[in-house]
Amino acid sequence: MSKEHTADFWEYLEQASPRGRTMLLPALLRAQDLFGYLFPEVTEKIGKALHVPLAEITGVIEFYSMLYPEPVGKNIIRVCTSPSCSAQGAHQLLEDTATQLSNAPAGEYYLESVQCLGLCDQAPSALVNQMRIGHADAEILLNPSGEFHTRIGGKDRVLTARCGEIEPTDVDAYQKHAGFNGLKNAFAQTPAQIREAIKQSGLLGRGGAAFVTEIKWEGAANAAGEPKYIVCNADESEPGTFKDRILLENDPLAIIEGMIIGGYAIGAHKGFIYIRGEYHQAQAIFQLAIDNAEADGFLGKDILNSGFDFEIELRSGAGAYICGEETALFESIEGKRGFPRLKPPFPTTHGLYQKPTVINNVETFANVALILRIGVEGYCAYGTPKSSGPWLFCVSGDVEKPGIYEITQPVTLQELVCEQAGGIKGEGELKAILLGGAAGKFISPADYDVRLTQEDARERGLTLGSGAVVVLDETRDIRETLADLGHFFEHESCGKCYPCQLGTQRQAEILDRLADNGGLPGDAERLGDVGWTMTDASLCGLGQTAASAVLSAMKLWPELFTQTEEA
Ligand code: SF4
Repeated sequence: MSKEHTADFWEYLEQASPRGRTMLLPALLRAQDLFGYLFPEVTEKIGKALHVPLAEITGVIEFYSMLYPEPVGKNIIRVCTSPSCSAQGAHQLLEDTATQLSNAPAGEYYLESVQCLGLCDQAPSALVNQMRIGHADAEILLNPSGEFHTRIGGKDRVLTARCGEIEPTDVDAYQKHAGFNGLKNAFAQTPAQIREAIKQSGLLGRGGAAFVTEIKWEGAANAAGEPKYIVCNADESEPGTFKDRILLENDPLAIIEGMIIGGYAIGAHKGFIYIRGEYHQAQAIFQLAIDNAEADGFLGKDILNSGFDFEIELRSGAGAYICGEETALFESIEGKRGFPRLKPPFPTTHGLYQKPTVINNVETFANVALILRIGVEGYCAYGTPKSSGPWLFCVSGDVEKPGIYEITQPVTLQELVCEQAGGIKGEGELKAILLGGAAGKFISPADYDVRLTQEDARERGLTLGSGAVVVLDETRDIRETLADLGHFFEHESCGKCYPCQLGTQRQAEILDRLADNGGLPGDAERLGDVGWTMTDASLCGLGQTAASAVLSAMKLWPELFTQTEEA
């Protein structure tokens, strides 16, 4: 603990102190960055400065997997073992790395298995400290280099047109490519007219639930209470999903533009963007984009002489998937553990700090800027009447060309996977597709011709979720994939309600047994019971969907769950 670091931190705390508890997570992350871990002297000082009891600080530290109350190694290696990475050898990578590290000096390295890092197109992936590593092997993890290429595909690129084409934080370059035209058009209209445009556009949220954006906006605009807030949910953590990462890093000003338009439309003057802790590069790029936008008069007071003020504050997550749930995210910004709240009341009336709040995800705000730029008619020329606009899909697993794909006119799942993404890698045969991420479902081959629209998916009882398409070839053991999913939900359940807290643990145990030795007699029935109980009785979306993939696999491949003898 150097004197210089200590002085820096006390100064930071002094500045943060008047804002109180909402600064708890930023203060803990800052302290950990400076001192390596969160030891009692530091947490006591934080508690005093922010007026938070020490016991509650301990609870917060325990809740977030990226906060460490004990010393860890100088270098932290986090290997992702979620389905896409697991299928590409993540468990072997963990073993190989542990072997290589067995002779390393004590305290030099800390190796851990983590849930999805949002690098599914680079599987197997890892983080070494804050550097992301794609196509990792044990050698690279010990001598890391951060170079990797992300594929952005699609026949027509509208939403992602600037990605990879301009310097992402350069406001001039952004403007030369039609940036901030949407905001200028917005300022020429009244807030009610903008909300009407969003309504006419039919914009559906892109975070997974596909909720009608205009209903949120209208609700918050008309809600009593001040101030109002705009929140951008960039806690993208659904296994198989990495599209927000690409927008955050390649076109952050479009998200900022969408947030300002949202603020103007509902009467909010402050926005928060909550970016998951694993997206360190995205955070750095986004903060620079905020600073540049502010320097050029697109954030702050009287934006473009409109008389409208708006500011954006970036918050980092700290390794808790549940904080992608909107109310858990509010709790996290407020300096608490990320437990979902009971709903109603809804965020439109009681959101962040119990004030009227609109929360949308990254891709949704990028779409807002596009709608205001090209107009409702131009926007509705893309997609279908019930799934308007461009949609992003994340293709990963055993395909030739993993990456994100922008779909501006409906295509089938088959076309996306087998044509645009190049089909199965090498000589392999397609075995299974998990659509919608960990919370999604395995798709029957009979459904490979489903068009990737909300209405087509719904008609077949499927969900597009957050646009994750995880492809497995015939060499993959579905039971191992399910065991990985089981560990994911067991780890990420926040524990607030029993059906999910206990159900995810029992589900993981049964899935482990099935993967290891075929399971015990009665395991199939137990798995079904646990699954339906979680689906029906859990408090939030995590528990309600924790068994979706498992139940779909049981329907598609019942033979995998049939035990023939006592284990
Ligand atoms: Fe927490 Fe799971 Fe209950 Fe959601 S369903 S509140 S994640 S325990």
